[in-house]
Amino acid sequence: MTTTTTAQLESFNPATGELVGSVPITPPEDIPAIVARAREALKSWGSLSAQERADIIRPAGKALADRADELGELLTREMGKPLGEGVGECRGTGEGLSDEVDEIAKAVAPETLTGEAVTTTLYHDPLGVCAAITPWNFPLAMPHWMVMPALVTGNTVVLKPSEQTPLIAQAYADVLNQFLPEGVLQVVHGADDQGKALVAADVDLIAFTGSKAVGQKIMQSAAGGLKRLILELGSKDPLIVLEGADLDAAATFAARNSFRNCGQVCVSTERIYVQDSVKDQFLSKLIEQSKAYTVGDGMDEATVVGPMIDENQKNHVVAQVQDATGKGAKVVFGGEPRDGRFMSPTVLDNVTHEMDIMKTETFGPIACVMGVRDIEQAVELANDSEYGLGGAVFGPEDKARAIARRLTSAMVGINRGLGGAPGSPWVGAKQSGYSYHSGPMGHRQFCQVRVVSEARAE
Ligand code: NAD
Repeated sequence: MTTTTTAQLESFNPATGELVGSVPITPPEDIPAIVARAREALKSWGSLSAQERADIIRPAGKALADRADELGELLTREMGKPLGEGVGECRGTGEGLSDEVDEIAKAVAPETLTGEAVTTTLYHDPLGVCAAITPWNFPLAMPHWMVMPALVTGNTVVLKPSEQTPLIAQAYADVLNQFLPEGVLQVVHGADDQGKALVAADVDLIAFTGSKAVGQKIMQSAAGGLKRLILELGSKDPLIVLEGADLDAAATFAARNSFRNCGQVCVSTERIYVQDSVKDQFLSKLIEQSKAYTVGDGMDEATVVGPMIDENQKNHVVAQVQDATGKGAKVVFGGEPRDGRFMSPTVLDNVTHEMDIMKTETFGPIACVMGVRDIEQAVELANDSEYGLGGAVFGPEDKARAIARRLTSAMVGINRGLGGAPGSPWVGAKQSGYSYHSGPMGHRQFCQVRVVSEARAE
C-alpha cells in the first residue's frame, strides 16, 4: 500500500525555538481550484443583505472572546509577544466583533440621492473573491482587519496568513467557519509561492498588509487583470517633540511606541525629532522610561518585550544600529547583544539622515533621537521619507495642531498616539499604502459601487 504524505509548514516559538505545531502546506497548483470554490460560494453569500451576513457572523465574536485565553497563549507561543498582549488581541477582536459587523453593514446600505428630475440609488455590491494576504506582527488582528469587512460586504475570502504564524490564523478561521457556509472563508498556507499563486488566480480584490517590497510585486502582478487592491504597507513614523511639551508624556509615549511588540508595529515610532532646547531633558526621561521594558519569553509574567520574529529581522536591526554607530550615533541606553532572537530596547542619540536607520523601516526596538533647531527643520525632516503612515507631535496645542496639518503622514496624533475615534479609517499616504480600510469609508473599499438612476415621478 502506498501512502502520500502532505508537506507540513512547521511553526516554531521565536523565544525558545520549540516546535509549536504545523499545518499542511497548500500546493500552489491547488490554489485555482480553491478560488473556484470561493467563486461558487459567492453566488449565495453575495446575494444576502449585509445585515443578514452580519447576523450570521455575529456569534463568532463571543466564540473568539470565550476562547481568548487559549488562543492568546497560542498566539504568544507562535509569535512571541507578551501573553497579556496576545490574549488582549484575541479578546479585543472577539468583543468588538458584534458592533463591527453592524458598522460594516450600515456603511454599505443603499443610499438614495435626489435631483430635480432624477432619483439615484447607490449600491455597494461585493467585488467578488477577495484574496487576503497578511503579516505576522498582529497575527490574529491583521487577518481579521481584512477578512471581516470583506465578508460582511459580501465577498468570499481566501486567506493566506504569514508563514511565520499559520497556527493562530488557522484557529481564527476555524472559529469563523463554525458559523459561515462552506467555501465562504478558506485558508491557504505557505510563503511567497502561495502568495503569488493566489494573486495570479481568478480573484477580484487583493487585500494585503505587509512590506512595501511585496506590495510592489503584488501591484505589478495585479495589473494584468486590473484587480482591485488594498495595500497596507510599511512605514518610518516620526515623533516631533517641541519646546513646551509635557516631556514626561512625550517620553512615556516615545518608549512605549518604540518598544511595543519589540518595535514590530507598522506605526512604531521610528524617528524622534526633539527641539534642541529640551533634548537633554527629554533624553534622560526616555532613558528612565526605557528601564521598565524587561526583555524575555512572552510567557513569563515579567516580560514587557518579547523576541524578534526571526533571525533575519534581528540581523537587520543589529546591522542598522552598527551602521548608525559607525557614522556617529551614540548608544545611550541598551545596545548590548542578547542571545537567540532577543534584542535589547535601545536608545540612540545623534542620529542623522545619512544613516540607514533613519531611512529604511527598522521594525525593531530602537528609539532614534535627533535634535532639531526649530519647527521648520522638524517638519522638513519628518517629511523626508518615502513613507507616510503615522506620526505624532507633542507640544503646545496650537503649534502641534499646525504641525500635524503639515506632516505628509496620513494619520497623526497630537499629544497622543494616532488611534482615531470610532469610524476613522486606517490609511497610509505615500509609499505606506494604496487604498485603505476600517470605518465606513474603509469598509466601502471592499465594494463595487453601482449607480442606478430613474426619472422622478411627477
Ligand atoms: P511581508 O511583506 O514579508 O509578508 C506579508 C505577506 O505576504 C506574508 O503572508 C507573505 O507570505 C506574503 N508574500 C510574500 N511574498 C509574496 C508575493 N510575492 N506575493 C504575494 N504574497 C507574498 O511582510 P511581513 O514581514 O509579514 O510583515 C511586516 C511588514 O508588514 C512591515 O513592513 C510592516 O510595516 C507591515 N505592516 C503594515 C501594516 C499597516 O497597517 N500598514 C500593518 C502591519 C504590518
